[in-house]
Amino acid sequence: MEKYKYLQLKAELLVEGINATQQALEEVGTKYKEQNHGLFGWDFEDHVGINLPDDFILPDETVVQFRKNSLSPYKVCLTGNRLILSKGDIEICEVKWIPRPAFYDTETTTHRKMVKIGQIGGVDCLFFCYQNYCSHFSNDQQCLFCNLVSTSKTYNSVLKKKEINDIGKVAQAAFYEGNVKHVLLTGGCFNHQKEIELVTDILKSIKKHTGFDRVPGVILPSPPKGEDEIKKYYDTGIKAIGFSMEIWDEDLYRAICPGKSRNTSHNDFVHLIEVAVKIFGAGNVYGVFVMGLEPKKTFIEGIRKITELGANVVPFVWSPNPGSQLEGHRAPTGAWFVDTILEASDIVYQSGVPAGTENHCYRCDGNSLLHDALRIKGIE
Ligand code: SF4
Repeated sequence: MEKYKYLQLKAELLVEGINATQQALEEVGTKYKEQNHGLFGWDFEDHVGINLPDDFILPDETVVQFRKNSLSPYKVCLTGNRLILSKGDIEICEVKWIPRPAFYDTETTTHRKMVKIGQIGGVDCLFFCYQNYCSHFSNDQQCLFCNLVSTSKTYNSVLKKKEINDIGKVAQAAFYEGNVKHVLLTGGCFNHQKEIELVTDILKSIKKHTGFDRVPGVILPSPPKGEDEIKKYYDTGIKAIGFSMEIWDEDLYRAICPGKSRNTSHNDFVHLIEVAVKIFGAGNVYGVFVMGLEPKKTFIEGIRKITELGANVVPFVWSPNPGSQLEGHRAPTGAWFVDTILEASDIVYQSGVPAGTENHCYRCDGNSLLHDALRIKGIE
């Protein structure tokens, strides 16, 4: 159907990956925004030394994550001064790389390039990873889809330790430039008290440098231990919080996320979301999932339950990332993702949960289809 054309194309591009000619990539990293691997690597193959776009834009403004795959039938070529996406010999549409933010090359007062501290996701989301470490790798209990350690070793492109004041300065520069609308903060799993203190200091610095009273955006912390800790995150001044539950089906969750599920059970997550909605308000809490590793039935059950609690959902489209335990596997088809996300979007739409787009929107990242499916229903 015509109205689903770009949703279908995005699903295909995320599942199959994409290629681009050298000419098409010529100005990526100078004029256009390049990948900087702030946390995970989403390409099908590593590309050390080659600048690739982080994401790109389809004609209806849909943002798509660039996932390099040399074997993909999808390719972007430079034709005249237009970037043209083709599948095999068939031309599909013009696409646009995203302009590189001017602040990327600015240095902080501690002489660090700002791009190594914060990066833009999509068009308008300023991303800070405050801790590139996850304890689950040390005993081989990492989530099967995760490539945090291998990405960090392969690219080593961002600062592991960031000065608090530098984070505030980067936020100031990014918001001043005009495109940024929200922040996204996350880290691996570590000591709760230390994490809360660190996030409190980071938000204090962002508020001081931007003038926000409460900062539009989302914190994705390691799972808090209860109401008190959630309240402390609220008190930092961030507007929304998310919980990376990953998989709804309980047995699959335990199998796919062995370390994480040992620390935080399925029911713990449901409880945390319920409590967080009371503190942050309906629509300001997110359940974050990896979509494509469990059956449609259980994924949809999760969407129904999370929205009944008054929370929103961010489901990332899974692809087999290099360095993860599932490297070399295959994701479901693009058609499966479209069919499943359309059903999910009906549930979200009918739930009446506030869309929360001031904290996270369809322009924030190119690896989820839900915002795009909701846009078709008029929610931007
Ligand atoms: S909790 Fe899982 S997904 Fe998150 S960083 Fe650790 S291994 Fe990766």
